[in-house]
Amino acid sequence: MGDRLGVPWLGQTCHHCRYCLADRENLCDNARFTGYQLDGGYAEYAVANERFCFPIPARYSDVQAAPLLCAGLIGYRALKMTENATRIGFYGFGASAHILIQLARHQGKQVFVFTRSGDRAGQDFARELGAVWVGSSSEQPPEALDAAIIFAPVGSLVPLALKAVAKAGIIVCAGIHMSDIPSFPYDILWEERVLRSVANLTRQDGEEFLDLAAQFPIATRTNTFCLEAANDALTALRQGSIEGAAVLVVDRAEND
Ligand SMILES: [Zn+2]
Repeated sequence: MGDRLGVPWLGQTCHHCRYCLADRENLCDNARFTGYQLDGGYAEYAVANERFCFPIPARYSDVQAAPLLCAGLIGYRALKMTENATRIGFYGFGASAHILIQLARHQGKQVFVFTRSGDRAGQDFARELGAVWVGSSSEQPPEALDAAIIFAPVGSLVPLALKAVAKAGIIVCAGIHMSDIPSFPYDILWEERVLRSVANLTRQDGEEFLDLAAQFPIATRTNTFCLEAANDALTALRQGSIEGAAVLVVDRAEND
């Protein structure tokens, strides 16, 4: 009672399907998601299943913590899928990538950031957060990468990322949607390169990630909008004019 909790995307699972029984609740056949099948998220009040909520580390304000719950948590799962990669490419540098670069650097990894060509602001932002190399997505990195995470929902990035990784390199597609992936020659997948997606999160991912976030400060860059301006926030997101994450606040005076 009285604890401050975060309500993540995974709102409920069935506990009896083959995925739940195999500790893969992120793939539950009967999962229900916050703001999708479960009301809440874009609301002043919401009912949530406490077993799926996470305590928020005290060092973060509400606004700073908000991006940790979706961009951070699901991004963390994508980062875990890159296994022991030390040189990681990020395609796209939005809400999730700006959190993960901090975590990856904390783990001693080098991050190479690819943005749309001409995205000066995005490239500067990535450099500021410690990217070892920044370029446009059509460029090849100065050295072969061990893994890459594709945040942008752009299928044509897949063959580009496959060309950027070394043998056994892992490509993780982090979005829910992606435009069609163009056909590509088998030799860029050959030599045990891996192409996979990431879906949702498990509660274990959430606990691990928020434990890490409690141990070292992740500086989230936030753009706040009042709840009534939710559509403006979505428009700004579509236009790519948000640096970092957009956060809706219900009552600015109480939440800042
Ligand atoms: Zn299930």
